Amino acid sequence: MSTRHAATAAPRLAAAGGVSASASQPCATAGVSASASQPCATAGLARPCVFRACATAGLARPCVFRAPGAHLVAVLAAVLLLTVLAATSFGWSRTGHFLITEEAVERLPEPLRGWFAAPPALARLKQASAAPDDWASNGSDHYRPDPVRVRMDERPRHFLNIDALTDEPYPFKDFPRDRAKAEERFGAEALATHGSVPWAAADALSRLTDALTAGRTPAVFCEAGALAHYAADLHQPLHTTANYNGRQTGNHGIHKALEVGLLARFEDFYAGELRRRRRQEMFLDDPPDALFNWLIAAHDRVGPILEADSVARHRTRYNPAQHPEDLGDVTSKRARPYYESLRQELKRRGSPEAAAMRDAAAHLADLLYTAWVQAGKPQQHPPSTQPQDERQPVTQYLIIGAAVAMLLSLLWPRRRPPKPVADSPKESATFGDGAGPDEPPRR
Ligand SMILES: [Zn+2]
Repeated sequence: MSTRHAATAAPRLAAAGGVSASASQPCATAGVSASASQPCATAGLARPCVFRACATAGLARPCVFRAPGAHLVAVLAAVLLLTVLAATSFGWSRTGHFLITEEAVERLPEPLRGWFAAPPALARLKQASAAPDDWASNGSDHYRPDPVRVRMDERPRHFLNIDALTDEPYPFKDFPRDRAKAEERFGAEALATHGSVPWAAADALSRLTDALTAGRTPAVFCEAGALAHYAADLHQPLHTTANYNGRQTGNHGIHKALEVGLLARFEDFYAGELRRRRRQEMFLDDPPDALFNWLIAAHDRVGPILEADSVARHRTRYNPAQHPEDLGDVTSKRARPYYESLRQELKRRGSPEAAAMRDAAAHLADLLYTAWVQAGKPQQHPPSTQPQDERQPVTQYLIIGAAVAMLLSLLWPRRRPPKPVADSPKESATFGDGAGPDEPPRR
């Protein structure tokens, strides 16, 4: 469900801030380098240029040129860039997906655990487990540059608003597990609107089985990552309800508060919670049925989460929807009482969010094990090195760099722009012939 927000919110931010619609778009189309690190000679004096070399300050030191209003523009741009970054974390957020995937690997039997637990392999799998959110926001990514995976096709694969599709009460015993039957009953359009995550996970499981059978290592990592993502998403209680962001109950903003704000502040707590109650992995005789049962169990956790949020926001008079900039800002004093209260209130109700993550990890281990058994228990060892073409997109780092540069520019001592000196050979050599400082190297 949060991907639904992201798909619409990111372009809105882009339109307002002049930055990319998605954090993982190539920098060339994001408009970041042109405003933040453009060489002075091509930037023109009429525009702000953060990395402008200053003739009076010396070439080794950046000098901030401030056009009228540039200060405000830089602040807004920095905030927007950081907000875009926050908005690109969906599902359980990258932190949540990484924690769940890492714990699932720890629960695997050999040789599976050995394949994925070595640091380079684990890093690769964790990145793959977060990639489907990039597919949802971009339509494609470096893992799978597939034009068929357009944004609107990917989006519903991350949730199933089961209570929007049927009036049947929990535990939804008559809800069709089979996709064809569900389409027949509700219509394809309704499923595109209200989601299809159990079937997305089942499809990923089939593709992982095929990749393991064929011994195709890149596909094994890609599909295991996709499976990890969809399996984790269907355990997120707020991915199972039409009230996914609390609008119907006065809990607007709970979605990101839970999966981004809370995890950012209590990551160690959740990592510890995931390690509890480890059990032996299980082979799944009927994976689609199991996936649905897990989603329905997650749906039962919606109520306690909304209750905890209601108490926390009432007690602290804090509305997370009004402060999206606080989500990832763990130093925010304004947000601290709310998140601490939310954590306490959740704890009072048995920590349903931690239980959901722990179940996600345990069930992901079952799914990975099931794929391996279905593939005939192959014994070959996938290489643990990460190919060049499957590395993390650099754009996020470029955006972070641009945002930090803008903020630094505001902290730098103000200097008056130098008075123009006619026929100054030094200035001419510095700016007039395009010999400004080089753009920062890109990956
Ligand atoms: Zn997702």
